[in-house]
Amino acid sequence: MLKALFIDLSGVLYVGNKVIPGAVAAVAKARAKQLQLRFVTNTSRRTRTQILMDLKNLGFELAEEELFTAPIAAHAWLQEKQLRPYCLIHQNIKSEFSDLIQTNPNAVIIGDAEQDFCYDKLNRAFQLCQQGAPLLGIGCNRFFKLDEQLLLDAGPFIKAIEFAASTQAIILGKPSRDFFLQALASTNLQADQVLMIGDDIYGDVEGAINAGLHGCLVRTGKYQQGDENKISLPHQSADSIVEAVDYALLNYRNS
Ligand SMILES: [Mg+2]
Repeated sequence: MLKALFIDLSGVLYVGNKVIPGAVAAVAKARAKQLQLRFVTNTSRRTRTQILMDLKNLGFELAEEELFTAPIAAHAWLQEKQLRPYCLIHQNIKSEFSDLIQTNPNAVIIGDAEQDFCYDKLNRAFQLCQQGAPLLGIGCNRFFKLDEQLLLDAGPFIKAIEFAASTQAIILGKPSRDFFLQALASTNLQADQVLMIGDDIYGDVEGAINAGLHGCLVRTGKYQQGDENKISLPHQSADSIVEAVDYALLNYRNS
């Protein structure tokens, strides 16, 4: 039944610069058993090239076309609509948007901007949205985990601008249904043949299930006790990606 795995990165394969025990072997095992793999991430502090290099350094080899990132999806959306974004995003990924005209902005994009989340810049975002500029979010995660600490992600800031400007953000990346379906389209499979493995009960598991996929929550990364019970949709849970891959292989049919 399951023919592909969609795998979240941070919290599933690694936390900070530490690989989750067994993760490299688990991914290799899934690959060896012919499961299609896609890596879907809202990580918005690294460019696609940097992410591929980081993964390689941690022992994960993947092809560029297996990686789906929220910033790439956001860029494609802006380019298609020919909009000029006001970018409240992390310094590291500004280069991914540098080909778009950014003077006289008529769209706002918010990612994990870290230190750039100051009053002046948030207020500029608010003013533009108040004047009708669409608000884009690179993911809408509440928080993420880095070096044993939970850190605010882009979600709370996106919500603040939505609230102030009485607008609704378009979310590129998880949990957006379109984002999951974009990755799905690259597999030629049906949604119910895919298992999404993630450590975020909302962004990964609930989002995937809402797009018709199966979802598996791993108890690594940002997972907190009781997260399984935060959604009523049926889903799997596993101690880590190692157990999640074993579950997927048990439910794998090559027909
Ligand atoms: Mg994660």
